[in-house]
Amino acid sequence: MSISKNDLHAALKKYFGFSKFKGLQEGVIESLLDGQHTFVIMPTGGGKSLCYQLPALMQEGTAIVVSPLIALMKNQVDAIRGVSKENGVAHVLNSSLNKTEIKQVKEDIVNGVTKLLYVAPESLTKEENVEFLRSVKISFLAIDEAHCISEWGHDFRPEYRNLRHIIKRIGDNIPIIGLTATATPKVQEDIIKNLGIGNAKTFKASFNRPNLYYEVRPKTKNVDVDIIRFIKKNEGKSGIVYCLSRKRVEELAQVLQVNGVNAVPYHAGLDAKTRSSHQDKFLMEDVDVVVATIAFGMGIDKPDVRFVIHHDIPKSIESYYQETGRAGRDGGEGHCLAYYAYKDIEKLEKFMSGKPVAEQEIGQALLQEVVAFAETSISRRKFILHYFGEEFDNETGEGGEMDDNVRHPKKQVEAKDNVKL
Ligand code: ADP
Ligand code: MG
Repeated sequence: MSISKNDLHAALKKYFGFSKFKGLQEGVIESLLDGQHTFVIMPTGGGKSLCYQLPALMQEGTAIVVSPLIALMKNQVDAIRGVSKENGVAHVLNSSLNKTEIKQVKEDIVNGVTKLLYVAPESLTKEENVEFLRSVKISFLAIDEAHCISEWGHDFRPEYRNLRHIIKRIGDNIPIIGLTATATPKVQEDIIKNLGIGNAKTFKASFNRPNLYYEVRPKTKNVDVDIIRFIKKNEGKSGIVYCLSRKRVEELAQVLQVNGVNAVPYHAGLDAKTRSSHQDKFLMEDVDVVVATIAFGMGIDKPDVRFVIHHDIPKSIESYYQETGRAGRDGGEGHCLAYYAYKDIEKLEKFMSGKPVAEQEIGQALLQEVVAFAETSISRRKFILHYFGEEFDNETGEGGEMDDNVRHPKKQVEAKDNVKL
């Protein structure tokens, strides 16, 4: 398909109202329109959706978008409807539809109206859906959150493993685009292997977040006092405090409240109404701080979160990066403060003990990287980016001075002591 740069920009303007592509979007879209398998690695917020939405809108046939999260799919469909102002352009196919709705979706596809069909992986594996999709024109297949295919990712989903087989059945020559915000080389290998897209054209954006300041403090029994002090210094600013357990979330939220911090708890044990009310309060700035488990954050897009505190160290660098990544989305200040004690690592190890051996081994390896990160005396940013396969030079790189180890270098002796621990 030959489409000029002018056509691409016109389509971008027409469907989304944007006048410029963000980052690597244009190249990605050209690759896909060229009919090539394409692999996109961009941090959260990088603009991955548009990489498949725009080419889908520009082509004949329906693009199938596999995504694990029904709620997010719904948002995306609504957003597309908003920009294109046509009904039927995007649909969701999942278990929440009734028979009439399914019939409507299928009709729109057959009539060529539907440009994007979002499906959950478990719906895609249903025989009747496979049979139907074999019989219609598919422009390409997009696998969003492609890291779900890998056990080395932070969100492994076994259903993703069947995708290659299903894709083959739907059609042999359909271009595939995989997209993820997981930058570790291991996960990337897994994605390419499992989707069978060894020849994919790969686009990888930098994962550097120059406006984020990284800091690790030793965790003592005064950690709560330290957190209160930090929040008071940042009065009126929005922030998230992550804790490992629901119990700790409840306790810390209470401690903060008692100390005059406008905070609410958030975890999966709260009922849906409370959860969404607390989330809304945070988004509307009725509260400053959310104390949460990792249940909080997926798909939350508050641009001016000014700090992310980890009361407990996360189970992988990947999770740490994702969670701290919620700070400073608007490019403004974002302070990432993690408290670290080796006994928390042991706690995380204990959590894994009931799991299959292979999973435990992966978990251990990921944890060792967390220990290395917490105990390192080199630049935290350099460490994180190296973990993601990216070389970073502190002298010249953007944000090179934005972490505790660079600002306040540890004395040589101290650094050695850490290694011995
Ligand atoms: P990701 O999936 O990579 O996390 P999204 O696709 O959700 O990111 O996009 C993040 C934000 O960037 C969205 O608000 C989207 O509207 C915006 N965006 C995407 N492309 C552009 C663009 N070319 N110009 C301006 N904003 C864009
Ligand atoms: Mg996305």
